[in-house]
Amino acid sequence: MEKVSTNVTDVGDKIIHQSVDVRLQNLTKVFFEKSGKKTVAVDDFSILIPAGKLIGLLGPSGCGKSTTLYMIAGLHKPTAGSIFFGDDDVTNMPPEKRGIGLVFQNYALYPHFTVRQNIMFPLENLKVPKEEALKLAQQMAELVHIGDLMDRKPSQLSGGQQQRVAIARALVKRPRVLLLDEPLSNLDARLRLQTREEIKRIQRETGITTIFVTHDQEEAMSISDEIVVMNYGIKQQMNHPQAVYDEPVNMFVAKFLGNPPINIIPAKIVGGQLTLLDNTVLEKGFEIADQEVMIGLRPEYFKIVSTGKITAQIEMIEHIGRDTMIICQLENAENTIRVIVPSAKNLTVNQKIKLNATKFFIFNKETGERYK
Ligand code: ATP
Repeated sequence: MEKVSTNVTDVGDKIIHQSVDVRLQNLTKVFFEKSGKKTVAVDDFSILIPAGKLIGLLGPSGCGKSTTLYMIAGLHKPTAGSIFFGDDDVTNMPPEKRGIGLVFQNYALYPHFTVRQNIMFPLENLKVPKEEALKLAQQMAELVHIGDLMDRKPSQLSGGQQQRVAIARALVKRPRVLLLDEPLSNLDARLRLQTREEIKRIQRETGITTIFVTHDQEEAMSISDEIVVMNYGIKQQMNHPQAVYDEPVNMFVAKFLGNPPINIIPAKIVGGQLTLLDNTVLEKGFEIADQEVMIGLRPEYFKIVSTGKITAQIEMIEHIGRDTMIICQLENAENTIRVIVPSAKNLTVNQKIKLNATKFFIFNKETGERYK
């Protein structure tokens, strides 16, 4: 009889995973289609995911997130590169031997099985004795807070509850790594928020190394210990969410994170001076060759002050919770910018205001590379 992997210790009613780090080394996946079309879905991708961490793999549709996840799962064979779980090279290991739990967007539960049968299903394949399987299934159900729903069928559950069943089923085999592919996309806004907090709690309690794929930057920022931003199959940046937000390496990352989004404004460097296109000087003393650049200013990087260097006219005022967002038109430029201010008192539509930037990024206009 095949033994259930032993990378879990029971400590009272807590289930602690012996977590492993996951290392992707120069991972590449090229799809060749019959028509001759070639797609480089993942391109020389290297990251180290520390043991016990939750990593958000984030990027726009088609950037290679799922392909990366499926290579880690063993469902896609890499064209080049290696995958390690701890010291274990799993690159050519079949999926069932890797010790992974996989959760999909559409839950993929068996509709005619009860919750209990769904959770126990992977254990049947492993021929775990029934008594033990029942105990493990109950333990996992308690962990994801559905212990009282074991006799229901999936159709009798909400979307969030169904996703918890899928997570319990993925965890019951006691995997080394948990892989989540857009697990919240089918849930409504409130459930999505609740379930993402649940996932974070379950991950913390089990300590299992987890990779979470999403195209939703807010979701990735809120749930992840670190995020990896991808574009065109290429790693752009990996760091703590706040660090990526505060110090993006390029214009793509700066634009991809943030809601409301960052303002990108054309500007130029002339003789070390950064000026807007109407020649308003923003700052001096840059060691950057004369050229046109793009500057990035997050909406909260502005201050309204009477001595401000940037002149703008208010077009719209929106209340967004505690703060206020004003949308204004830059004077002598075609750009509309979003500015977040703590209070809109004394501000009216059509009013002219003066702004100073408390922080900004300078990007290469062509490559998006960040200069400052
Ligand atoms: P989404 O968020 O839309 O799921 P993604 O970031 O997960 O996108 P992937 O599904 O990994 O992106 O796809 C990356 C690229 O590889 C895309 O251009 C896609 O069309 C292509 N691709 C994925 N699977 C295949 C396949 N089996 N054959 C050919 N091309 C594929």
